[in-house]
Amino acid sequence: MTVALFFHTDSLCTDAQVVSCESSADGFAVILNQTLFHPQGGGQLGDTGHIGGNKVTKVVKNGEDIIHYSESAVALGQVDIQVDAERRLLNSRLHSAGHLIGHIGEAYGLQAIKGHHWPGEAKVSFKPLSGSKVINAESIQQEIDKLISADLPRYTRTNEDSMRMVGFGTLEPYACGGTHVAHLGMIGSVVITGVKEKKGIISVSYQVI
Ligand SMILES: [Zn+2]
Repeated sequence: MTVALFFHTDSLCTDAQVVSCESSADGFAVILNQTLFHPQGGGQLGDTGHIGGNKVTKVVKNGEDIIHYSESAVALGQVDIQVDAERRLLNSRLHSAGHLIGHIGEAYGLQAIKGHHWPGEAKVSFKPLSGSKVINAESIQQEIDKLISADLPRYTRTNEDSMRMVGFGTLEPYACGGTHVAHLGMIGSVVITGVKEKKGIISVSYQVI
């Protein structure tokens, strides 16, 4: 089992123990006792970085373990790990913007059903509930600009079911395993690039710039 340190810290470097390193089709599959690398999942791309100076190109979850794919073999024992800051920040900005779009849609009576926060193809999908109001790109843009300029701080708590809940300022938290900016101003600018409806599902596409 890998301890997921990224649930509790924004730190990008620490020491860890290499538990195993095995050759695989995707490179050397490295399992650590603890990690700062966020694996791909929950609509968010995984982190990249280095383990003991070895380049990590892909990180995935496999049951209780987090598997880091390294370009070269990593020796067992203590090692320093370093997450790529630029990619983490981009993923966190995209993912946090997805939270905000979720909140905005919900205020229009839409139920957020899926978030996909990959660069270049980010979108949040909604199912309209009865009595929902019409939503358009301009109104979402106005609302998200307002929230980001309010620069609300992130908070994290654990609910009664031991779920990690993440929210900003006075906004209700979402049960979430992703990475987030520490305060909304860090998102920078979000551009709502489209609102589409297909088979009753409304998709809001966006970019961070
Ligand atoms: Zn989240």
